[in-house]
Amino acid sequence: MIKFLSAIIGMLLLSVSIAQRTVIHCGQLVDVKNLQLLKEMTIITEGNKIVDVQKGYIAGAAGDKLIDLKSKTVMPGLIDMHVHMESETNPGKYMETFTFNPADYAYQSVVFAERTLMTGFTAVRDLGGSGVNISLRNAINKGLIKGPRVYTAGKSIATTGGHADPTNGYRRDLMGDPGPDAGVVNGTDEAAKAVRQRYKEGSDVIKITASGGVLSVAKSGENPQFTEVEIKAIVETAKDYGFKVAAHCHGTEAMKRAVNAGVHSIEHGTYMTEEVMTLMKKMGTYYVPTITAGKSVGDSAKKPGYYPELVTPKALAIGPKIQNTFSNAYKAGVKIAFGTDAGVYAHGKNWLEFVYMNEGGMPALETIRAATLYAADLLGDDRIGVIEKDKLADIVAIDGDPVKDIRAMGKVKFVMKNGVVYKQE
Ligand SMILES: [Zn+2]
Repeated sequence: MIKFLSAIIGMLLLSVSIAQRTVIHCGQLVDVKNLQLLKEMTIITEGNKIVDVQKGYIAGAAGDKLIDLKSKTVMPGLIDMHVHMESETNPGKYMETFTFNPADYAYQSVVFAERTLMTGFTAVRDLGGSGVNISLRNAINKGLIKGPRVYTAGKSIATTGGHADPTNGYRRDLMGDPGPDAGVVNGTDEAAKAVRQRYKEGSDVIKITASGGVLSVAKSGENPQFTEVEIKAIVETAKDYGFKVAAHCHGTEAMKRAVNAGVHSIEHGTYMTEEVMTLMKKMGTYYVPTITAGKSVGDSAKKPGYYPELVTPKALAIGPKIQNTFSNAYKAGVKIAFGTDAGVYAHGKNWLEFVYMNEGGMPALETIRAATLYAADLLGDDRIGVIEKDKLADIVAIDGDPVKDIRAMGKVKFVMKNGVVYKQE
């Protein structure tokens, strides 16, 4: 018995000594809770966790791995709350629906996922694709490919002819009549069924398209596309499965319905009025602006033939307005989480959103808080979003000081996710 016990203790001691600690010296560290820059700090990680954060440059013990980020600004891994990992804008994109197999989406999503991680985004919320995004998450979690933590909606939920109806703009015989399985619902029973189908498929979050949108081949970019009763059915069913609900929304009426029905975030929010802002504050609804996508589609729409005829006027009208909406919402005190709609513009440029938010009146450290602490809050995952003892070791570092020049957010030189270093320049 004693022999057995001592063998166990020996194994335990061995495993303790094997788990290597990493000691990271940070020139300055972004404290996202108190919105300050802490000079000369040390972070210690072990396995996939942060085990200590201390003032000064701590030497560490023999066998510890030392990482020198003394010339860098270090912060929690960045989180983009609105991406589409399966695809990326290009003038031929509307043809892909007819020419792409799921494997085509899968292979390119591998490239986009790695690019996203290498630019400092250690977590993303994928708000809609074909379902390949669920397999992408699984492959990343298994360590087969490199990418951020993915929290995915799988397929978005729309009503017939709504923004995320996958057959919009097709000729009649190809249109068919897609149902809850394909994310198209009418009425409360189908709404509940679509949420349950997402659960069955392995989604992490529910995405609905509460109003018309820019890139769908349909006339209106802002009309309400669900009744409030339908949205309530989705929110109620989602609650049963532990899902939060994100609502794509440009139009005012759709936003009122979605917020009243209890969705957790409004995406884009272009025509957000003061009344809606007051309602969002009352309900605790987050706003995820996606200014980058708005500006990008506005620019692309100026290139002849880039988008279908029905899309161009919507892109020109709606896209450029989002930054101003963001400014107003920020001033009004609406909770804001960082999200860009990557995929609608080129993956890897997510950092531009920091520049646009800053231009829109939000101080640099608050933009970083929106992409870390607040994003994690909206995800409902308190293991990430802050550099503290016992949190997961998602840590990034940039050259320069974002408070002096927000464009420094585009100079990510160090990326650690789950305790593993993916980039060190
Ligand atoms: Zn989107």
